[in-house]
Amino acid sequence: MSTEFDVVVIGAGPAGYHAAIRAAQLGLKTACIDAALGKDGQPALGGTCLRVGCIPSKALLDSSRQFWNMQHLFGEHGISADNAKIDVGTMVGRKDKIVKQFTGGITALFKANKISPYYGFGQLQPGKRVSVKQHDGSVVELTGKHIVIAAGSDSIELPFAKFDGKHIVDNVGALDFTAVPKRLGVIGAGVIGLELGSVWKRLGAEVTILEALPDFLGATDAEVARTALKEFKKQGLDIKLGAKVSKAEIKNGEVQLTYNDGKADQSLVVDKLLVAVGRKAASKGLLAEGTGVKLNGRGQIEVDDQCRTGVDGIWAVGDCVRGPMLAHKGFEEGIAVAELIAGLPGHVNFDTIPWVIYTEPEIAWVGKTEQQLKAEGVEYKTGSFPFAAVGRAVAMGEPAGFVKVIAHAETDRVLGMHLVGVGVSELVHEGVLTMEFHGSAEDLARICHAHPTLSEAIHDAAMAVDKRAIHKVN
Ligand SMILES: Cc1cc2nc3c(=O)[nH]c(=O)nc-3n(C[C@H](O)[C@H](O)[C@H](O)COP(=O)(O)OP(=O)(O)OC[C@H]3O[C@@H](n4cnc5c(N)ncnc54)[C@H](O)[C@@H]3O)c2cc1C
Repeated sequence: MSTEFDVVVIGAGPAGYHAAIRAAQLGLKTACIDAALGKDGQPALGGTCLRVGCIPSKALLDSSRQFWNMQHLFGEHGISADNAKIDVGTMVGRKDKIVKQFTGGITALFKANKISPYYGFGQLQPGKRVSVKQHDGSVVELTGKHIVIAAGSDSIELPFAKFDGKHIVDNVGALDFTAVPKRLGVIGAGVIGLELGSVWKRLGAEVTILEALPDFLGATDAEVARTALKEFKKQGLDIKLGAKVSKAEIKNGEVQLTYNDGKADQSLVVDKLLVAVGRKAASKGLLAEGTGVKLNGRGQIEVDDQCRTGVDGIWAVGDCVRGPMLAHKGFEEGIAVAELIAGLPGHVNFDTIPWVIYTEPEIAWVGKTEQQLKAEGVEYKTGSFPFAAVGRAVAMGEPAGFVKVIAHAETDRVLGMHLVGVGVSELVHEGVLTMEFHGSAEDLARICHAHPTLSEAIHDAAMAVDKRAIHKVN
């Protein structure tokens, strides 16, 4: 079998499989290498996202939400669900089935698009060659006119809290607990800590989240962050801000933590500890000597805004390069690079990448925050609308949160949309679309929104930009 390709992709996560499939669609002879194995020990394509990230976390978030609603929401609908029980094995098994369905789906898509899969660890060699150490120990060398590096990212480990897979875990372990931990400690109140902390809280764990920074979700709109924090506290998530952990010792089957709250050392004992302090580019062992590809100080592959590494024909996309570590950012980069390779005008608009945190309430945003605009000296106006005044949200029993539209003070062009509440992971795309089409708050306000829907919050928030929201006093 020929090992010469037009395009060789290293990594079959969101960024890599998008690059591979789009390249193949464009008639390029494509290979894609991935080292990952699934829980069954067999090769599993789809990367962090499909195996141990986006999809399994959402499966457990949805399962745990059913249980939480049964206990906390059903009553007001007049439905009693006494003695609700959880079978963690069934819940995790359901999640595994969904993972298998989707990782298997990538294998099928590769086959349908005639992409050659290679299962093993790829290392870039000088001269657009990639050596692949396959799972059976054999090594195969591939050459490509173009190489796309899509190696993704790994969890950051703290030196004093090494993962043992049992007591101290990362996302992989926290997606696979066999029982609800009585006490779960989480280091890091970022997306992963909040989402996985929520899963186990809803299922009955006492969850304490220790966050070193004094501000909660500092990159998020400040009002959104405040509202979300209030709601999380109501749910019983114990979020300690400004809490710097310095020690985590496993003793007698427990994890004993020491953290400083700014005043003194404090201790906390938990049964499981999830370390969710961020992710780092998976660049270890990826580049042989002399490839010319450069890493920055954070171990990310250096690229320009079109994902070129500076070495002719070598590209890099997804979590292993600068920018937000989001699957859909990787999707867009993968597609853009394949199109650029094929001579088409591939492009990613980094200004309109949506962000979502799938907690309850959900948090979502696109574009600039008020904090950013103030720092940049841009004049802006805002309009907000609460879900508590949206008929559909109240009928659903989900009145928490609001939508905020930020528009330029003079041109009215939408500069950002910030949402917290039910279903905002879907609603945010109205902001994305408006910004992509350079639309204004006036445009949004003039678009007819179906009644009763959650999206009416956006309509009224857009009208509130000019103080003419109908369903609130402006
Ligand atoms: C718990 C969790 C939840 C998340 N939820 C979301 C979410 O809801 N939405 C969202 O947008 N993002 C989410 N993310 C982030 C998302 O998973 C990543 O941004 C995304 O997977 C990055 O895609 P990627 O293709 O760059 O890398 P990855 O998905 O990390 O894929 C890289 C692949 O390359 C393989 N690989 C690496 N090096 C080599 C090598 N040298 N040779 C061969 N193979 C190699 C790896 O095995 C892996 O399969 C979540 C992450 C986690 C951990």
